[in-house]
Amino acid sequence: MSFHHLFTYEIIALETPYIKRNCSKCKTNTEFYCSEKFRMNANQKLVDIWLIYNCIHCEGTWNYPILSRVNINKIESTLIQKFMNNDKETIWYYAFQINKLRKLCNDVNTDIRYELRKEKLNPLSSEVTIRICYKYDFGLRIDKLIAEIFAISRSKVNELSQNGTILLNPNIKMKSKVIDELQITVIGDWYKVDALT
Ligand SMILES: [Zn+2]
Repeated sequence: MSFHHLFTYEIIALETPYIKRNCSKCKTNTEFYCSEKFRMNANQKLVDIWLIYNCIHCEGTWNYPILSRVNINKIESTLIQKFMNNDKETIWYYAFQINKLRKLCNDVNTDIRYELRKEKLNPLSSEVTIRICYKYDFGLRIDKLIAEIFAISRSKVNELSQNGTILLNPNIKMKSKVIDELQITVIGDWYKVDALT
């Protein structure tokens, strides 16, 4: 008897990416962490919003520009509230704008700590599909993720992909970055290892 089941694995970021830039106090190219606080400045009706980063050595600050001189009437009041309350979800949304941050900084360190929340796989399944839930994109590679899920090497992942044992939907390259809602289908029973239980 053959079963096919869909399971969800959630990738949970445990921290926001660090950025690298020159610290004017330390006089060196160094890492800054996200303070998880917005700074707001209003001049008449024009509003500026920044997300504040702090140097890991001296607490010197760098302000990541979020909105520059925007008329307050053009910003949704619920969003203003979120800026004023340092709403964590809003902060993380901006702190994970890695491409934008890369343009403003010397580098962004996306090698952050994360957790995999796994739904237990059915041991009777001869084919399983794992749906990836990935809310905050930090550039994780698909082959790295699969290697971690199944506790195998990246070269093994590529071998299994080439012989059709691991399939991706959408059909993107193993070396691509993980996308939300990616589905990984594995065929056979080779994966029934302790790592999955
Ligand atoms: Zn510094």
